[in-house]
Amino acid sequence: MKPTNTVYTGLPTTIFEEMSRLAIAHKAVNLGQGFPDVDGPDDIRREAAEALMTGPNQYPPMMGVMALREAVAANWKRFHGLDVDPAREVLVTSGATEALSDAINALVEPGDEVILIEPLYDCYLPLVKRAGGVAKRVRITPPDWALDETALRAAFSPRTKALLLNNPHNPAAKVFTHDELKLIADLVVRHDSYVIADEVYEHIVFDGLQHTSMLSLEGMRERVVAIGSAGKSFSLTGWKVGYVTAAPKLIDPIVKAHQFTTFTTPPNLQIAVAYGLAKDDAYFKALAAELQEKRDRLARQCAPLGPRVIPCRGTYFLTLDMSPLELESDDAALAKRMTVEAGVTAVPVSAFYASDAPRSFLRLCFSKRDNVLDEAAERISTWLQSVRETAA
Ligand code: PMP
Ligand code: GLN
Repeated sequence: MKPTNTVYTGLPTTIFEEMSRLAIAHKAVNLGQGFPDVDGPDDIRREAAEALMTGPNQYPPMMGVMALREAVAANWKRFHGLDVDPAREVLVTSGATEALSDAINALVEPGDEVILIEPLYDCYLPLVKRAGGVAKRVRITPPDWALDETALRAAFSPRTKALLLNNPHNPAAKVFTHDELKLIADLVVRHDSYVIADEVYEHIVFDGLQHTSMLSLEGMRERVVAIGSAGKSFSLTGWKVGYVTAAPKLIDPIVKAHQFTTFTTPPNLQIAVAYGLAKDDAYFKALAAELQEKRDRLARQCAPLGPRVIPCRGTYFLTLDMSPLELESDDAALAKRMTVEAGVTAVPVSAFYASDAPRSFLRLCFSKRDNVLDEAAERISTWLQSVRETAA
């Protein structure tokens, strides 16, 4: 039989699904896949329920329900001082994942180079490859995850079509500095290329830092495709409502990719997300403040157990360098062992690398109830003690 597509055939199941399945099988506390363990705000869910009953429940406009596109535009003004035309510059998608797929398919021609920052979020590399793009990887390295200017400059070439930037960054929990963003912007302009800016954690930034959108940098308004997600901003990851903002000429082919991918997204959820985006600043501040407390809670309990806690400035994720514990030389083996023996699931950070991955880091999701975080830390502590006793 003829072979099926080489990018997807034989591709392993994504690490998030793999670790969640393992967590369920072993009844482990699941700090692997990134999702909150409480449902999103009551009022937003009620809004969706009402919209479901009152309707309409037929296809909404292809680019999204106008109320949501207007709410996205209003938030660009509120949080970044940018004027965005909701009719021509905003597209609603079925999650940021669809937005990424649409944007990559719409921008990349076979043979185009796309710069990716490694560690990489799971779908980036397969999507670039499937579009025929050639990935150029540039690393950020722990513990500070600084962007190597020389490596970044070297990654650009006349064939560079786009740079895909995840900021705040999953899994590094890094918020790129203004200087780093400026450097990227300068190089992108100089090489006449684009930025696909995955900013799903835009409202989950800690320690008084501010999220700067790539779209707001000088010279970037016509060159950036900015992607957001209601999943992260409203703790409703199962809803899969995302939004794309880009200049009319740039968004046009992305809309065409969307037209033949999902075409639309459930209208009731869109109406509820529009309601959510209109929430006052206090809502967004509280979201970040609550998650910052959770980060601190988990870090405080993990640090005395022996791993090195890597700084975390945003997102849902805390990275632990497990090497001081000398348990396993491979993080994937360690993550499995910790699920089975300790009853706590994490994600091995090597899963975010295409090659030559570091092997001592585990990513733990802290968007969980406090008692769940406490239970996880307690279980890890008990397990480490028994490992030490066995070794003694
Ligand atoms: N990008 C990053 C960096 C993510 O962590 C996620 C997971 N939420 C996504 C994109 C996908 O978002 P969505 O669930 O809205 O498709
Ligand atoms: N974004 C989530 C994470 O990083 C997972 C989303 C998914 O499973 N596709 O864990």
